[in-house]
Amino acid sequence: MTNRELEVLREKLENINLQLLALLNERAAIVKQIGEVKKKAGIPRFDPVRERKMLDDLVARNEGPFDNATIKHLFKQIFKASLDLQQEDVKKHLLVSRKRQEEDTVIQIRDVLIGGAAKEIMAGPCAVESYGQVRAVAQALRQAGVKILRGGAFKPRTSPYDFQGLGEEGLKILKDVADEFGLITVSEIVNPAHLDMAARYIDIIQIGARNMQNFELLKAAGEADIPVLLKRGMSSTIEEFLFAAEYIVSRGNAQVILMERGIRTFEKWTRNSLDISAVPLLKQESHLPVFVDVTHSTGRKDILVPCAKAALAAGADGVMVEVHPDPSTALSDASQQLDIDQFHEFVNGLKKSGLFSEMIGSK
Ligand code: PEP
Ligand code: MN
Repeated sequence: MTNRELEVLREKLENINLQLLALLNERAAIVKQIGEVKKKAGIPRFDPVRERKMLDDLVARNEGPFDNATIKHLFKQIFKASLDLQQEDVKKHLLVSRKRQEEDTVIQIRDVLIGGAAKEIMAGPCAVESYGQVRAVAQALRQAGVKILRGGAFKPRTSPYDFQGLGEEGLKILKDVADEFGLITVSEIVNPAHLDMAARYIDIIQIGARNMQNFELLKAAGEADIPVLLKRGMSSTIEEFLFAAEYIVSRGNAQVILMERGIRTFEKWTRNSLDISAVPLLKQESHLPVFVDVTHSTGRKDILVPCAKAALAAGADGVMVEVHPDPSTALSDASQQLDIDQFHEFVNGLKKSGLFSEMIGSK
């Protein structure tokens, strides 16, 4: 073969590359159009039956020199890239995405703004155990200027034999105590049927890590008219977390707070691993307020201040911490709850850090 022949062939190849490039992009544009049509009609984007049929047709008409397996492989790559393209469009259009809404979502509950200029602390016992227990904690919160009281009344426990919470009675206790001290309350709900009842007692519904992908609960919370604190699942990616929030927002409830609470890793010195990178990523990707639960992410008391500082420095709108008047007798999470003195030390440690753009405890 002469050099001239080689040049001619190479030129042909380059022309074909350009044609392929144009065709691939023409195909991609059509795929995007199909995505739009499917979106309007509410049809799922991925259609494996149709993909199989297209592959079968291509293989049937394949005259080589590529063998059928290679043709299948190449086209599967094209199909996958097309689906990714549609997925990108979906992500851009998520209601929770900052691309959809540039300004921060600020949730107002009476005089408290969540996700506003001030950082907030949510604190309280793991579980509501008695009126006296919650009242002792609420008093400490009030003293420290912390405005949001937490306490589980429906506890999703790993063992069915462990304390499951006081149920509605626990929510009543939270309401009575919060009314006395002028606090707002957050408590976990695990059953969609309890949402309306819970809204009569508490200000924020918590959906816990174990229920982050309980889609029926997410949908029901999306239809409720009450702010939702959504915790990240213990093995969930940030993307899955945002999709879970989207379930709620897409049903009409835009008042969602995201909470990083640590993920499962091989590390044994902490109960979970606090994924601090999730904080700036969530703030970047979404306009929703972001909180960090330093108690469940670490499962220990001695590193709470530095972890909370890290969270606030990374852009979190606030932190959550567990407090119990007598942690050693707590019916759940005994080893990780702060006592009242430790709680005051914790709050003072954060106040001193200068990380609160506006001091908590303005009252
Ligand atoms: C809780 O906050 O009480 C709780 C159970 O946390 P998580 O769902 O993050 O485990
Ligand atoms: Mn707990």
